[in-house]
Amino acid sequence: MFDFLKKKLKEVAEKITGKQKEIEEEKEKIVKEPEIVVKEKIEEKIPEIKEEVKEIKKDKSLFSKLKEKIVKKVLEKKLTREDLEPILENFEVELLEADVAFEVSEKIKNDLIKELEGKEIRKGSEKEVVVEAIRKSLSGILDLPKINLEEEIKKKKPYLMVFFGFNGSGKTTTIAKVANFLTKKGFTCVLAAGDTFRAASIEQIEEHAKKIGVPVIKQKYGADPAAVIFDARKYAEAKKIDVVLADTAGRSYTNENLMEELKKIVRVNKPDLKVLVIDSLTGNDAINQAKFFNEIGVDAVIFTKLDVNEKGGAILSVSYLLKKPILFICDGQKYEDIKYFDKEEFLNNLLSF
Ligand code: GDP
Repeated sequence: MFDFLKKKLKEVAEKITGKQKEIEEEKEKIVKEPEIVVKEKIEEKIPEIKEEVKEIKKDKSLFSKLKEKIVKKVLEKKLTREDLEPILENFEVELLEADVAFEVSEKIKNDLIKELEGKEIRKGSEKEVVVEAIRKSLSGILDLPKINLEEEIKKKKPYLMVFFGFNGSGKTTTIAKVANFLTKKGFTCVLAAGDTFRAASIEQIEEHAKKIGVPVIKQKYGADPAAVIFDARKYAEAKKIDVVLADTAGRSYTNENLMEELKKIVRVNKPDLKVLVIDSLTGNDAINQAKFFNEIGVDAVIFTKLDVNEKGGAILSVSYLLKKPILFICDGQKYEDIKYFDKEEFLNNLLSF
């Protein structure tokens, strides 16, 4: 999972670590062979005055003064912004390839410079320090509010969750997974076939409901989804069902009125949780999807298809933009392939190199 993003982060960590090691090697060399290093340093800076350097070397007092200054400078050298900037020059473009939005990689880059510039780094701990700096930055991006779904459901029954997302994001499958997950936790669920637009969507949700053994409330194709969800809520109230999980039509280019439809669903039914389902493979378009649905207000996000995702950047990008809890992540086509998002586990996986 996320091998591509992992590779990109590993590369940058290695480059910074390498630079730090170069600094250390120079320090060791200047302690062992000060004359040679000092000569190199002088020539490196002013190659065109090689002859004069010879003269300087003859002048013992001038040379030793210069030597003292250079040795001190080398021994005091730490990573600087000037060391880090060229390493991180193409960072944004590299991470863009892993679906990390430009603003996000820019933030990571600035965080790294801020964290590592002038830092005292013990020999042998270079990699650890650099990886820790990356972790700190990513952890900040994923510092999102949390939702304790099970506690929320216990507080308000029936608890209405409305799911929205682009076509094919895995919305219907995810609703079935969440219903199955909650059923296993001892909650009762009903599904609402609120996608009355896409052909076969009602049959699809019915099939899922049958497999996981929960009821589904439906009307005909073309019916008002707000009304279908309203019916499902009334059904849940009457039958004392804990959770209503409502499907909605996916965004597609032929469904221009979707936003109005979603606003009506929200106005009429006042969901307890508006859940955006995002296919993590969507790449950089994930940001546009998040912006689009945020117009009606997103309360939580679920990312799907992590099992087939090499990149992983969409999670960082959408989180940075929306700053909303990641409720679940889905990593497969089976009903069991769903779990609560665990930031530490995510970071450990990403930084295990
Ligand atoms: P919807 O149009 O958003 O309702 O999407 P569907 O629920 O119909 O899912 C679209 C496709 O994605 C189906 O083939 C699902 O089996 C597949 N899918 C959904 N979630 C996952 C997941 O986490 N991993 C994988 N590999 N496939 C998934």
